[in-house]
Amino acid sequence: MLDVARVSASYGQHLALDGIGLTVARGEIVVILGANGAGKTTLLKTIAGLVRPQPGARIALDGRDLARLPPHAIVEAGVALVPEGRGIFGELTVRENLLLGAYADRAHAKEAANLDLVLGLFPRLRERYRQPVRTMSGGEQQMVAIGRALMSAPDILLLDEPSLGLSPLLCTELFQVLAQIRGTGIGVLLVEQNARQSLKLADRGILIETGRIVGQGSAAALSVDPAVQRAYLGA
Ligand code: ATP
Repeated sequence: MLDVARVSASYGQHLALDGIGLTVARGEIVVILGANGAGKTTLLKTIAGLVRPQPGARIALDGRDLARLPPHAIVEAGVALVPEGRGIFGELTVRENLLLGAYADRAHAKEAANLDLVLGLFPRLRERYRQPVRTMSGGEQQMVAIGRALMSAPDILLLDEPSLGLSPLLCTELFQVLAQIRGTGIGVLLVEQNARQSLKLADRGILIETGRIVGQGSAAALSVDPAVQRAYLGA
């Protein structure tokens, strides 16, 4: 289980996260909803070691403290981030991008099995295996980014707005794949603008405003909550 408590982080004088706490179990999808600038990206970056939390933060995976580890050690511990904007290498092929994801020691022994898993989840990537990623569509590039993170054999996957820029059809397909990923026992912490679809998919939801948690509950309960409907579901 990923266990986050008392996480605060600032950029200079600006406090972007103010005492965030949450958990993500294996085989569970937790969605974070919040307006632009609420701190969602900062939260994922802090868990992934790209932003330093203030002293007193707890970020642990199965009891192991990750809060001061460098990003590569956090990947090695089992937490992988798919950043907003994907962070893939356009000049490299699908294959090369995926294999880069398997650099972690924890991933070596499972490389072939993980490649099978990724190409099973995203058959399109098998078709485009030798193609440079920059020549692929936005949806295909998102598949590469998620596939690369899965190649590190994560226990917990952090996804920053994966549906951004995707057509409604591709978005639906993407969410189906996320359900399959959950089915493999991976825990998913998902940041999404698409509140309606993500609450259908997720097990639990957390609402963030200006760096603080202002609500949380089961996804089913949140999706019928009038305040949530007004703020996030356009009701
Ligand atoms: P969005 O949905 O627009 O991506 P978000 O919820 O992910 O928003 P963050 O990107 O985490 O929000 O930003 C939280 C706050 O921190 C914002 O006020 C933002 O302007 C500020 N911020 C983010 N990154 C930096 C940075 N590198 N330097 C200074 N301030 C930053």
